[in-house]
Amino acid sequence: MQLKTVLNRVHKIKGFVYEKVRFTDDQIEVRVRPRRGRRPICSGCGQPGPGYDTLEARHFHFVPLWAIPVILVYAMRRVACPRCGVTVEYVPWGDGKRQLTRAYAVFLATWARRLSWKEVSVIFRVSWEKVYRSVAWVVDYGLAHRSLDGITAIGVDEVQFQKGHRYLTVVYQINAGSRRLLWVGQDRTARTLLRFFKLLGRERTAAIEFVCSDMWRPYLKVIAKKAGQAIHILDRFHIVAKLNKALDEIRAAEAKQLARQGYETVLKHSRWCFLKREENLTDTQQVKLDDLLQYDLKSVRGYLLKQSFGLLWEYVSPYWAGRFLDGWVTRAMRSRLEPIKKVARSIRKHRELILNWFKAKKQFNSGIVEGLNYRIKLTIRKAYGYRELKVAEIAIYHALGQLPEPVLAHRFC
Ligand SMILES: [Zn+2]
Repeated sequence: MQLKTVLNRVHKIKGFVYEKVRFTDDQIEVRVRPRRGRRPICSGCGQPGPGYDTLEARHFHFVPLWAIPVILVYAMRRVACPRCGVTVEYVPWGDGKRQLTRAYAVFLATWARRLSWKEVSVIFRVSWEKVYRSVAWVVDYGLAHRSLDGITAIGVDEVQFQKGHRYLTVVYQINAGSRRLLWVGQDRTARTLLRFFKLLGRERTAAIEFVCSDMWRPYLKVIAKKAGQAIHILDRFHIVAKLNKALDEIRAAEAKQLARQGYETVLKHSRWCFLKREENLTDTQQVKLDDLLQYDLKSVRGYLLKQSFGLLWEYVSPYWAGRFLDGWVTRAMRSRLEPIKKVARSIRKHRELILNWFKAKKQFNSGIVEGLNYRIKLTIRKAYGYRELKVAEIAIYHALGQLPEPVLAHRFC
């Protein structure tokens, strides 16, 4: 069987024929020519038009065979289009500007979902740039062809990008059965999130019933303005994280103070005893914690307040959860622990949003958003070459967007 026969079977090109196959030292070159009598198609308007001239032959990289590069060689024609002027013809296997065929781009992008981009470039002996371009192309296609209909629950969050204070804002769909990344944008300002709602459009925004977010003020403002009809749920994870941070501050300050007074061993190795959930403590940590609870320490009072706050999530009725929350805030405000009081004030201020979690019947818990965020962090880490935000954005869409992919007659991998 000839290679031409195989190509015609797996990658038939409408309006073109495979002509000669040449096996050089290090690659397979396949000449492609237009089918006789077929006029070139204008890349501007998609209509056939009279030929203008023919450009020099160009190389398009195709899926390798037995680890041998396969190149389609084709001299593109130009079209004297009555509508667009002189344009380069449209070719179905690529887009004219790229050296990669569509088939190869999809092939590389598929592998780039499983391996790091660097690994893909090494295995298939292409540049990192080519892998990047392939993924970008597939993502562009996916974004253009995806549907944003039927979204009724979204989660908004921020992800730290690299070190320092650079952030990405991410928006997920968190409907049961359809969880995906919808959007990622630079920074975490009000303007950032406004861009998402602009993309979504007024009608689809009006269909949103639940929004899950943290207490970041610009997000709260934008969500209230744009999706005021939705039940806005404050993220449980973020509230607990804030309490943990307050507790950590108290413990660190107290440890310093005790050290000055000559009791430095009391709080030594206590950090995780206070921060971890009790069921996750090691035996040694559990003993240490039991020991610490004997002392009248600020850290201990803070710890007990944090622990008791956890009971909130056991409530079913928003009314009784509200009563509990108010009681907790009162106790926290009397605790004389400044960092805890700060969190308590914030909780009091966002009382309604926190209680919305109960109104939403706990169905949209923050675990969903946290799980997705964790995968974003892995994606960013796995591809340590993503210094540019633009590249990171594409990688994140590729990994989490569940985007539709270009359909090829044959799956090459
Ligand atoms: Zn045209």
